[in-house]
Amino acid sequence: MQTKELLIGLVLQIYDAKINTFILTFIKKYYLCSKSTVMSVLYPLKFEPQYFEKIWGGQYVKTLLHKDFGKLLNCGEMWILSGVEGHNSVVTNGNFAGDELNDLVEVFMGDLVGDNVFDKYGEQFPLLVKIIDPITWLSVQVHPDDELAKKIGLENGKTEMWYVMHAEHHAELVSGFNRDINKDEFRHLIENKEIEKVLNYEHVHEGDVFFIPARRIHALGPGCMVAEIQQTSDTTYRVYDWDRIDQYGMYRELHVEQALYTLNYKKEDNYKTDYDKKIIDTTVPLVKCPYFYTNFIHLDASMKKDYSELDSFVILMAVSERFVLKYENGEEVVNMGECILIPNVINNVEICVEKDAKILEVYIV
Ligand SMILES: [Zn+2]
Repeated sequence: MQTKELLIGLVLQIYDAKINTFILTFIKKYYLCSKSTVMSVLYPLKFEPQYFEKIWGGQYVKTLLHKDFGKLLNCGEMWILSGVEGHNSVVTNGNFAGDELNDLVEVFMGDLVGDNVFDKYGEQFPLLVKIIDPITWLSVQVHPDDELAKKIGLENGKTEMWYVMHAEHHAELVSGFNRDINKDEFRHLIENKEIEKVLNYEHVHEGDVFFIPARRIHALGPGCMVAEIQQTSDTTYRVYDWDRIDQYGMYRELHVEQALYTLNYKKEDNYKTDYDKKIIDTTVPLVKCPYFYTNFIHLDASMKKDYSELDSFVILMAVSERFVLKYENGEEVVNMGECILIPNVINNVEICVEKDAKILEVYIV
């Protein structure tokens, strides 16, 4: 082993409990001169999930994903990868255990997220990956796009996608309108509590995929657990909250004027993403948008991946059974409902499964 690597190892050991940004920057600046050394330091990262109780939250995170959400009464959302201010994901594996994602982005920049991604998004990790489990309807809502978000001083809009991990019989969701309408008509429907007339309802089954661009009206229904991939943003305009009250007897705030201004009122022909769910051992594209590309991989054997053409990190998320990710210096198990972040500097990995496993592969182009 080279002296440089020995020194890095020593520093990493000393600060194993909590390597702060200063130390990381120091390592980066003074020791990591060559790409090969960065490759030996960076590795696929796993993160501590963050649990959120919601007025509409269910128990699947405990019963299906076997995660302990402690004293919370339910877990409506489990954030598994986040660069959201105040909810920055913390690494659980290897030398960087205890470190926050955005601090690692600050230090390793393009080597972690890709050069173009770093130029565009800077130190904030650009995607948020979560699992949503509703026992009753989420509010009918809409998110701004980048242009609208910037006008009101926010960084990003919010385009998102859902992959249905589990659906009860008759589970439903809302995506878009079932006919063209306009702002005045929709305002009238909101005032008369009649918006359900114009919402497009979809029956959902496991494996269904819905792409929800910013400005599209949407709501998740009961018994429909999804993996959500979205731009890093937490801006939601609630149009309608089913007239329910919270534990304190209060209605949650609505944002009708912002929503009316934000909504796209045009009906689309198809709201569900068409793809062949039965294709095995092949990478199947699901979504290609400026904010993320998502592929579906259904494996019953191992698959080697070469990411050298990509200038991006890659997220692999287990949406059914677990898989094992093997890379040059080690391997990590990724259970259902977990994900792993492969740094841009790592090009060759192998995904291994014990039995059938379904995986989402996410990156930025
Ligand atoms: Zn949403």
